[in-house]
Amino acid sequence: MIIDGKNIANQIRLNLKQFVLKNDIQDKIGLAVVLVGQDPASHIYVNNKVRACTQIGIRSMVYKLPDNISQVELVQLVDSLNQDRIIDGILLQLPLPSHIDAQKVIDHIDSKKDVDGLSKNNVYNLQKGYDCLKPCTPLGIMKLIASTGVVVEGKHAVVVGRSEIVGKPMVQLLNLSNATVTNCHSLTSNLAQLTSLADILIVAVGQRHLIGVKHVKKGAIVIDVGINRLDNKLYGDVDFEQVKDIASYITPVPGGVGPMTIAMLMSNVIKAAGYDIKTML
Ligand code: NDP
Repeated sequence: MIIDGKNIANQIRLNLKQFVLKNDIQDKIGLAVVLVGQDPASHIYVNNKVRACTQIGIRSMVYKLPDNISQVELVQLVDSLNQDRIIDGILLQLPLPSHIDAQKVIDHIDSKKDVDGLSKNNVYNLQKGYDCLKPCTPLGIMKLIASTGVVVEGKHAVVVGRSEIVGKPMVQLLNLSNATVTNCHSLTSNLAQLTSLADILIVAVGQRHLIGVKHVKKGAIVIDVGINRLDNKLYGDVDFEQVKDIASYITPVPGGVGPMTIAMLMSNVIKAAGYDIKTML
């Protein structure tokens, strides 16, 4: 079965919009988005996030900065946003130009406003299992898995990729749900041998069709995080056409994980503003 991430994300966004209306807090919650440089994909992502805010009733402010901004200036902006009472969430659109140490800037974001969940305090909080703002993509993936009705506890989950944004926090969230987790990366020998043991396989690499039939156990849940552009088309890391016949559930690209990332960002912004929205998701 195909996991319709777009539909699930739309339902969550609708629930959040209703929550905002019911609590009469339209435009009272504020998200600051910091966008550095001219990367076209980043501009598209930021536009999508702004549109989602507008739809739900969250105020968004985009700070467009030139490529040559210094790290000191960027940190100063983050510090002023930390102090700004009308800003509940701060999002630093990645990637940043190479002269900037992205993690250092992220670590300056107040952990209570860190709606991407990537600052060192939130990384620590997640590792400890404390209540905190969690990275949006892995959080969305947990919701997609939950939508299948399959219980994660006791399952063998294999995560391919160990980035700070997806792979590592994904491992943490699966661990917190009591899965047994294997984490693969570029130096893993015999990838197929490990992935084919997975009840739940999550692939976040960025290589088109890295995962084929030989990598997947019959009946596994397959979550494809990859976004690979070729000739104006988007492809995942999983060869969907081949794998869909052996997986029990599989996410498409596009329309799987991507829409959930934005829905989870919206829910993180509302959580950062101090609202308990667990039941809305
Ligand atoms: P990174 O480039 O930061 O990390 C890629 C990971 O894949 C690394 O850990 C790397 O290992 C591993 N890897 C590389 N080659 C192989 C291989 N042959 N076998 C096994 N592992 C390998 O990428 P991200 O995590 O940021 O993103 C991954 C993909 O997900 C990209 O396509 C990105 O566009 C997409 N993405 C999608 C999102 C969404 O919302 N749908 C959100 C974020 C990302 P090593 O650590 O050893 O280098």
